[in-house]
Order: sequence, then structure tokens, then C-alpha cells
Amino acid sequence: MTMRKQLLGWFLLVGLLPLLLLAVGLQWHLERTLVAENEIQLYSVAREKGRLVRERALAVKGQAEQAAALPMLVRLLAGSQDQDDQQLSMIAEFSHRFTMMNNHYDMLLVNTAGKVIFTVMGESDYGADLTSDNWKNTAAGVAFDQAKSLMTTVITPFRWYEPSQRRAAFVATPVWDKAGMLVGVMLVQLNDNWLASIAASQIGLSATGEIVLVQQNASGKLVAAAPLRFYPSAVQDAFLLEDHQDTPSKRAMRGDEGWGEGVDYRGVPVVAGWVHIPALQIGLVVKQDSQEVFAPLIAQRYVILGSITLLLVIVALLMLWVTRRFVAPIQRIASLTTELSAGRWYMRIPQTDRNTSLELHQLEHGINRLAQTIESQMDTLQQQASELKVYGSDLEALVAERTQALARLSEIDPMTGLFNRRHYMSEAPKLWRQAARNQQKLLFILLDVDKFKEYNDTQGHQAGDEALIRVAQVLQQHCQRSNDMVLRMGGEEMAILSLIHSEEEGLVLAERLLSAVQMCNIAHPASDVLPVLTVSMGLALFDGDTCRAPTETKVDKLYALADAALYQAKNTGRNRAVLARETVAC
Ligand code: GH3
Ligand code: MG
Ligand code: MG
Repeated sequence: MTMRKQLLGWFLLVGLLPLLLLAVGLQWHLERTLVAENEIQLYSVAREKGRLVRERALAVKGQAEQAAALPMLVRLLAGSQDQDDQQLSMIAEFSHRFTMMNNHYDMLLVNTAGKVIFTVMGESDYGADLTSDNWKNTAAGVAFDQAKSLMTTVITPFRWYEPSQRRAAFVATPVWDKAGMLVGVMLVQLNDNWLASIAASQIGLSATGEIVLVQQNASGKLVAAAPLRFYPSAVQDAFLLEDHQDTPSKRAMRGDEGWGEGVDYRGVPVVAGWVHIPALQIGLVVKQDSQEVFAPLIAQRYVILGSITLLLVIVALLMLWVTRRFVAPIQRIASLTTELSAGRWYMRIPQTDRNTSLELHQLEHGINRLAQTIESQMDTLQQQASELKVYGSDLEALVAERTQALARLSEIDPMTGLFNRRHYMSEAPKLWRQAARNQQKLLFILLDVDKFKEYNDTQGHQAGDEALIRVAQVLQQHCQRSNDMVLRMGGEEMAILSLIHSEEEGLVLAERLLSAVQMCNIAHPASDVLPVLTVSMGLALFDGDTCRAPTETKVDKLYALADAALYQAKNTGRNRAVLARETVAC
């Protein structure tokens, strides 16, 4: 893995990972805190509002019970026949004030038979029989029936009330006479806006905060008991709140008390607190949209996202800086060492002005200097190597030349300058094959100086040497053809090899040589042949023209034949040439 990738990995691990963990932790903690705080706050508001509703209900009950104890009302309900107009107007006066001051809609007085004998508003319920089939199931009928049978003040929930053409709830209080006999029931018809004012109070609630008062309608369905903040005409529209499963409203209506998350009548997720108010058979929910509750969470999320982005930018800048300052020089050094190890000594790190650390700068310089040194050393070595090569080839040529010269010398007799016997050994077979190839005859003459011992003895060894040299010269002078070869075989014995075409040619050459030696006039008084130095010769021939492809050479035989002929020449008087009778063939 490259240095850059490793560094990036470490930066991200050290920088980003803790931030991510912290972010997750913070979000979780904030979410829990927000939910807990809001739920508790909403629940406490719900309890407070619930307390208000209960207190109002109690107050209304108290007022009703107080009014029910008024003697003029008792009397009226007791059905005394002597009701005069003044008394009736007093009751009317009182009732009017009572309803006005307490913001009630109406007040009804019902006798024990269920007949409405007095109302303030004088609507169609005046004179009605609340026990009759038409009226017993109306809000007023139910209120009368409950108060009468339970013998205590009751409050009925808000219901649509036909005579008033509005929703109505009744506080029904039994009325007793002095003797403790039930004389009737007083019904206080509560104003429709009785709960609305409580629901409408937004104090302590946030932008999406809402108080929902919920009750059951006649068919047991959940409806709003007061206008809703986000649906003001919910009551008039008889809007049903039951669309969603297990909403806080349902729980409040069931008699639960508590807090939690849920979905409201709009289907919007909410955080809520709720209470149940048994006296009015209503549920009270105080709720807030989850979105608003979690707004700080979203804000925190943006902050975290911003921090991560900022960190990434910082990491990127840091990486750029570290790369330029540390990684790049190390990479340059690494690639140069690769180049150098591949033999490219001329390579260098380009020396532009770079922003790196002092140590790395020095290292780059050092490597460059090292490369420079290696390059110049290599140049010197190469130069020396080429020089050595030249020396080597010169030396080789010299050695070859010397070797050749030595080889030549080793086959030359130093005294006479003739080839020696060694040369004969190597060259005779070649001439043999040449004769066969060219269809010629190979003539071999073995020549021996006559009475040379005596010459030495009489003329001295020095003179003997000179005589031998002279004879050699004479032989060479007469054997000038390219293939002629004159040899000193040892002592005063010499030989000639020559390619010829006939026996006669050989004999003519022999005769010419005999006379040439003789013509040298080297005085040899001790010789009994002539007073001058003479030689004897034995001639032998190889018939190369009879051969096609010679497989072996018989130069030894040729020699032996010549030697025998020489012996014969010596024995028959010397100073002559004898040709061997036998010729050698393939
Ligand atoms: P023949 O006629 O039978 O050949 O008799 P010869 O005396 O020539 O033969 P012999 O073999 O008895 O003697 C040869 C002599 O040649 C003996 C030796 O001292 C002499 N000799 C051989 N080589 C040299 C040489 O290189 N220089 C000198 N001065 N004498 C040599
Ligand atoms: Mg001899
Ligand atoms: Mg001799």
C-alpha cells in the first residue's frame, strides 16, 4: 500500500471515526432528552388544563347547587298554586342574571314529573315533558333522569341539542324542599364555548402545540369537544377523530393518563401528554408535532454534517500539505533509487525549489550527489574497460603472432634456415594428399653429404657448418617452385619434397642438384670420391595419379624406400642419385 493511502487511512481513522461516534452518541442522547423533556412538559400542561376543566365543572356545580337551594325556586317547583306574577318576574330576573354572570346559555326548571316549567331562553323545550319518548334521550332528558335517579348533581357531556340548535351540556341538580322532599331538577345549560376557551388557550405551547378535547358522540365515535387549532370547524363538521390506530385521543378517552409518541387526527406524528376527565367524560390531549420536537435534532445533524465536511476539507488540505512536503520527496527518492539500480546512472531528482523539510531536502541532494559520483566512477570504469579491451586484443594479436613465429621457428633449422624434420612430419602428408588430388607424383629425395666426417676432421667443425649451409643454399636455389620443400633431416642429411609429373623430371632434378653441389667447389681433399664436396641421393616416388581418394598416407614407406636408395647410392660410389625401383601407390 502506498504511503499516501496509509496516511489517508490514518487521518480518517483518527479524525473522522471519533467524530462519527460522537455524532451518533450526541444524536441519540439529544433525541432521548428531547422526547423525555417534551413529553413531561406536555403531560404537565395536560394535567394543568385538566385541573382547570375539573375546577370549572366543580364551580358550575357549586353555583347550580347554590341556586337550587333558593326558596323561590323550590317553591315554584313544589307547585304552589299561589305563584304571583311578581314572584315569577323575580325568578326570571334571577335566572337571567345567573346565566349572564356565569356565561351559561340557559337555565331550566323541571318538576318531578319531568315537565319543564321554566326556561330563560323560552325555546321549544319550554313546557316539554322530559320523560316522554320525544325528550328522554335528549341532553336535557338524560340530565334530568340521571339527577333524579342518582339524587345528586350530574354533568352530562356536550351533545347536539335540537331546541337550541347547538351543542349543549347540562348540569342537573336535584331540588329539595325544606322537608327534604324532591320537588324537581334544575338544569343549567352550559354554553357551547365553555370548553373552547380552555382549548383555545395556547399559553405554554409551541408553534405546533395543540390542546385536543375529545368526547364520544351519540353513536360512541370520537369527536372534538372543542374547536381544534388546525381544524377550527371540527365541532360544527362533526369531524371524527378515529381514523388512526391507538392515537393519544383514544387513550385519553379510554381513561388513560400518560405521555408518549403517536399519531394525531391529521395523521401527523406527534409527542403528547393526555389525561381523562371523568366528570365531563372527555379526554384532554396536549400534543406537539414530532417534527418541531426534533427540530434541534435536525439542527444538530446539520452542525455535525458541517463539522464532518469541514474536517474532510481539513484532512484533504492536510493530506495535500503532507504529500507535497513529505510523501512526494520520498517518492522521488524511491523512484530515483529504482532508476539507479536499473543502471540509469544519469538520472537525477529534478532540483526545483521545493517546499519540503530540511532533512528530506538534504536527502534528495545527497542521493543526487551519490548518483553523480556513481556515474563518474562508472564512466571511468567503462573507459578503463574499453582500454583494457584494446590492450587485450593487441595482446592477443601479438601472442598469436609470436606463437605463429614460434611455431615457424620450431619447424626451421636455425643453422641452415631449412625446414626441419618436424616440418616434414606435418607437411609431407599434406603434399601426399595434394599429389593425389592433382593427379601428380610426389618425389622424395633423401640426400647425404659424402665423407663428411672426414671433412670435419680435416677442415674443422666450423668449416663443416659453413659447408652444410652452402649445400642448403644450393638446394634451395634449385627448388624454387611453390610446392617444393627443402628440409634438413638431421646431421648432414637433407631431403627434398617436390610435386612432379614424371620419373624423368625427378631424375633431372637430382642430376642438376648433384652437379650444382659439385659446382660449389668446396674443397674436400680427404674425400676419395672427388676433391670437392659431393652428395649422394636416394629417390622415391608416390604415384598420386593412380589415386582417387587416398584414405591414408604412407610417407614412412616413401622415406624407407628413399633411404634404401640412398644406401645403394653410397654403396655404388657416392656422388650419385639412385631411384628406388618400387614406387608407392595408394
Ligand atoms: P658417408 O660418405 O658414408 O656418408 O660417410 P660420412 O663420413 O659422411 O658419414 P658418417 O655418418 O660416418 O659421418 C657423418 C659426420 O657428419 C659425423 C659428424 O661429425 C658430422 N656432422 C653431423 N652434423 C654436423 C654438423 O652439423 N656440423 C658439422 N661440422 N659436422 C656434422
Ligand atoms: Mg650421414
Ligand atoms: Mg655422409
